[in-house]
Amino acid sequence: MNIHEYQGKEVLRQYGVATPRGFVCRSPDEAADAASRIGGRAWVVKAQIHAGGRGKGGGVKPAWSVDEVRRHAGQMLGMTLKTPQTGPEGRVVRQLLVEESVEIDKELYLGFVVDRNSQRVALMASSEGGMDIEEVAARTPEKIHKLFIDPDAGLRIADVDGMARRIGITERSLVQARVLMQNLYQAFDGSDASLAEINPLVLTRDNRVIALDAKFDFDANALFRQPEIAAMRDTDEEDPIEVEASKFDLSYIALDGDIGCLVNGAGLAMATMDAIKLYGGAPANFLDVGGGATPQKVTEAFKLMLRNPKLKAVLVNIFGGIMKCDVIAHGVVAAARETGLAVPLVVRMKGTNEDLGRTILAQSGLAIINTDDIAEAAQRAIGAASNWERQR
Ligand code: ADP
Ligand code: MG
Repeated sequence: MNIHEYQGKEVLRQYGVATPRGFVCRSPDEAADAASRIGGRAWVVKAQIHAGGRGKGGGVKPAWSVDEVRRHAGQMLGMTLKTPQTGPEGRVVRQLLVEESVEIDKELYLGFVVDRNSQRVALMASSEGGMDIEEVAARTPEKIHKLFIDPDAGLRIADVDGMARRIGITERSLVQARVLMQNLYQAFDGSDASLAEINPLVLTRDNRVIALDAKFDFDANALFRQPEIAAMRDTDEEDPIEVEASKFDLSYIALDGDIGCLVNGAGLAMATMDAIKLYGGAPANFLDVGGGATPQKVTEAFKLMLRNPKLKAVLVNIFGGIMKCDVIAHGVVAAARETGLAVPLVVRMKGTNEDLGRTILAQSGLAIINTDDIAEAAQRAIGAASNWERQR
């Protein structure tokens, strides 16, 4: 689960990580008020969306008077902000962060992330902050330094200091940087984050070390013990189909392709997507209806999946174990009827009562492509999708 920058900075402050003074605002008046409260002579108005690259897209604007803060706020609120990370559709800006403008000497990169390969938390740091870190990694990988943290020993001072020096932190700022890194690690660990990224971490002209941006991602499986973090969820920022799906306790994840997948079991769902990819197609979603789904749940899942306007075909891949194939078949037929399914439907069903399931599908009067084999199912779904596209 992601949160906004202003919320990330609240988490940082709780753990003693230095951030600029700032307030979240939802109207130009609130923004002007925030600027007056912060004081000083320069501010930055920052669009709050769950995507980075805002600076490039016009979502981070400096202001040198309270009136200018108000003007920027008026322009930004309600706008659809497009950044390299939002995709072409962009995101509507509903909230702003107004904060003190910091005089930057150097922009660095600092992040903690769960590294699956080493099964440890990795500290990543670079002297090349403020820009897209993926780009730095691609062009100058030697400028990204990594440290894998032993969970028992934690972050050792010698390691932290070494890292700070490597990214160009001077001796006079070393202790500040050390404290910040240690506190950020505490924040990461204490909030069950899977990512805590500060880009940029800045050295200011008056030698302070400050987190200027904050990006967090949290392990959804740990949210039950992180009520304060869970309360920061902003469903306006999530795919509306994913939000609906979570209400029905369905695991749905939107993807970029055009073949809708409805599968029972996460492993089979992954294998189904792999098969689609293998034969040159692209799945439109991950959808696991679970092991013990009822026909109603299958119908709901089907309806949710079909709300995606990009769909050109649907592939249902079911292993009937606890959930029997005839039950699924009823659910699929009901859903296809109820939604007036327009795109081709490929069904592969194996397991308990598969013959009965197939009969139900065949007698439904719907144009369902039935197959036994996962490879064939994937290929037929891809073929049906491109045919359907051509006939439109
Ligand atoms: P994004 O990563 O979405 O582009 P950032 O918060 O990293 O947004 O801001 C982009 C750039 O704007 C930063 O690299 C920094 O140069 C500048 N910036 C952001 N916040 C401030 C601030 N409070 N004071 C001065 N400059 C800022
Ligand atoms: Mg940033």
